[in-house]
Amino acid sequence: MVKQVSSFATRSAVFSKLLSLLEQADGQRPNLLRVLTYHRVDEPDACPALYPGLISATPDAFDQQMSYLAANYHVVSMAELLDACRTGAALPPRSVMVTFDDACRDFAQHAWPTLKRYRLPATLFVPTAFPDHPDRTFWWDHLYQAVSTTIRCDDLDTPIGRLPLRTPTQRAQAFGQLKDYMKTLPHRAAMEWVERTCADLGVPRAEHNVLGWDELRRLAREGVTLGAHTRTHPLMNRVSLEEVRAEAVGSLRDLEREIGAVPPIFAYPSGGFNDEVVRILARRQRHAHSRPAAAAEDQHRAAHEPGALPRATAAVVAVSESVATALWRLTADR
Ligand SMILES: [Zn+2]
Repeated sequence: MVKQVSSFATRSAVFSKLLSLLEQADGQRPNLLRVLTYHRVDEPDACPALYPGLISATPDAFDQQMSYLAANYHVVSMAELLDACRTGAALPPRSVMVTFDDACRDFAQHAWPTLKRYRLPATLFVPTAFPDHPDRTFWWDHLYQAVSTTIRCDDLDTPIGRLPLRTPTQRAQAFGQLKDYMKTLPHRAAMEWVERTCADLGVPRAEHNVLGWDELRRLAREGVTLGAHTRTHPLMNRVSLEEVRAEAVGSLRDLEREIGAVPPIFAYPSGGFNDEVVRILARRQRHAHSRPAAAAEDQHRAAHEPGALPRATAAVVAVSESVATALWRLTADR
């Protein structure tokens, strides 16, 4: 098995990009696992208050992409991957995995029906503090809605300078700059700034867009693999190590409480991690699942046995949602 992730964002107009990414990867190494990371699958105008940059594909484009995968690739499930990691067996040629981050509502509405039609497995990473909490919305949606719809037209005074908001283009630029800047701040400081600024701009919170636990349980029953994606979706390298532990262990416990047995997988928000974070996750994950009360399937349990998987990251399948720098750490030694 090879440590390779091809994470991508496919807009409807760039289906060819998906093909070239996949086929290009073919030429690099044999026995390669490609991991496709989607966020939202929806029409751009379906939810105009939500940040459109996280629409990975329109429903039609997604259908086209899954049709292509079904015909040309072996789409592996997370269980198959974990089993291969445990046994050391090679994955089938042209293996690809389909994953979704953030558990947005459109997954159930558009993506899963298409995946079911093509009989393709998928993994959905859930930020577990969000389901059934309509008051909790993603900060980027909140900021996007505030910057794009505020009636204020004066310059916005920010730590990165005064940003004009007179035209739609200026607003889009301001949002992009602020979004990038927020990711450089400690998570708490960033969230406080977003709250304060959105209040100043006089715009209410964006709509809640995360699936509820009943819907997630239904999806799990129908075959969707659910994985942890923190509780509150901070960049894990922008919070204290104590918060890293709370986010990692808390999200796994939330999933176990609401769903039952879940596989030992974890996706870092926006690819934010460092070696120390990975070490904590690996250690905590083993501990979290060593309790006898964590009723697990054989394969699930086997994946947690010390030494069953390589390296310190062995107990954690870490998927990054960063487009260019994603790592598939689980297989780093293979
Ligand atoms: Zn995410």
